[in-house]
Amino acid sequence: MFGLEGAQVLKFEEEYRTLEDYQGSAVRWCSGCGDNGILTATQRLCRDEQLPPEKTVFVSGIGCASRFPHYMNTFGYHGVHGRALPTAQGVKIRRPDLNVFVNMGDGDCCSIGTAHWIHAIRMNMDMVALLHDNNVYGLTKNQVSPTTPQGTITNTTPRGASLEPMNPLAVTLGVTNASFVAQAVEWLPDLMYDIIRQAYHHKGFAFVRILQRCPHFVPGQFGELISNPDDLLLLKHENGMQISEAIGRICKSQEEHDPSDLHRAREFAVLEDKVPVGIFYRNDEVPCYDELCKPERMFSADHRRGVLENAFDRFGIFPREPAG
Ligand code: SF4
Ligand code: MG
Repeated sequence: MFGLEGAQVLKFEEEYRTLEDYQGSAVRWCSGCGDNGILTATQRLCRDEQLPPEKTVFVSGIGCASRFPHYMNTFGYHGVHGRALPTAQGVKIRRPDLNVFVNMGDGDCCSIGTAHWIHAIRMNMDMVALLHDNNVYGLTKNQVSPTTPQGTITNTTPRGASLEPMNPLAVTLGVTNASFVAQAVEWLPDLMYDIIRQAYHHKGFAFVRILQRCPHFVPGQFGELISNPDDLLLLKHENGMQISEAIGRICKSQEEHDPSDLHRAREFAVLEDKVPVGIFYRNDEVPCYDELCKPERMFSADHRRGVLENAFDRFGIFPREPAG
């Protein structure tokens, strides 16, 4: 765990925070890595929302994306492979006042971390989970990941990946209590920023899959999508994303989608001829585990008084009953 010095906290309490105030140590991702754009969008969000750095924590597992907390000038926890979500849940349950963000790669979340991911969706604790999906293990040098497209040559699949890739959106939308599911692409930073911002404002577990380039191991990745932006399908709705004129000029392929429609969201998640971007599903009514576990909800005042009185009675000294 790492974070802020006392003097920094005092400074933040007094001043408007600029983008630079949220910038942590020097970034060491490869040049052109899509993680850089995700970092900038997140720092913008922190600045625009004026999130108190001392009340904000970024939690990660292991992987290129997991260096994220080091690059934020907030609190952070760079933890264990696949375990970012239970760590973040521990933080949130103990400190519900904190803004909690989780950064995971596709190997981290969708392979070793899958059990935690499924149950994090079901528990619906209030946090933003960003899946940096570059379809490959980058930090461990180009190994096949659960989202690698079939046939892709990697260091561990020299004859091509044999399995169909996992679809993280379809998985998330299939789990009980899913409450916010979205997809962004990092090469459209303003759109990605809007999506992350909506995720931040959602009360519950907000899952955003971000298609992210890894030019070091997968040169030209998403090249077709980038040169043909109409292969994206922007999901827009008055209760979802509003598309700016500038984005509308780049991506003309758009569709109205009410994010409360789970059935339609699941259809978009498995669409084959386009890549939908935007808010797939949002349900603000799903109960959050962190709310359900609040002591005042779990135990009434009478119940707590009874427990205390029983405990005191164990140590009470009572006059003996007269014999006989
Ligand atoms: Fe980014 Fe890939 Fe370099 Fe990792 S290896 S920092 S994912 S470009
Ligand atoms: Mg990856």
